[in-house]
Amino acid sequence: MVQTQPETHTETPTRTRRAGWRAWAECAGLDTEIFYPEPLTPDTKADAKAVCARCPVRLDCLAEAIAANEPFGIRGGLTPRERRSLLRRLQRDARREAPGDRHTTVSPRRLVAVDCG
Ligand code: SF4
Repeated sequence: MVQTQPETHTETPTRTRRAGWRAWAECAGLDTEIFYPEPLTPDTKADAKAVCARCPVRLDCLAEAIAANEPFGIRGGLTPRERRSLLRRLQRDARREAPGDRHTTVSPRRLVAVDCG
């Protein structure tokens, strides 16, 4: 008699790769208010940043927020100001790597993946 290992399911039907990265978000089901604190201070943003820090899809979220120039909320663990600063730095680095190519557009998703990957 052949013994087989019990089947394990690590993905539920709603948490498949096909469902997209949002299905894996650490913030799923949490009160979204914590990601839009007012006023935005180190104390008020700490809870959201802690959730984002353990999120398995943080880079996807961050890249999307940067690509959309999302003006509100903490996404990918960064505030809007921090995201703008990161994008400027990544674009500056990309221009340094290809100084003669002024027409090259580098997608925020790629920049973030390269920098944080
Ligand atoms: S990085 Fe933060 S805001 Fe983005 S999906 Fe993860 S927990 Fe939610």
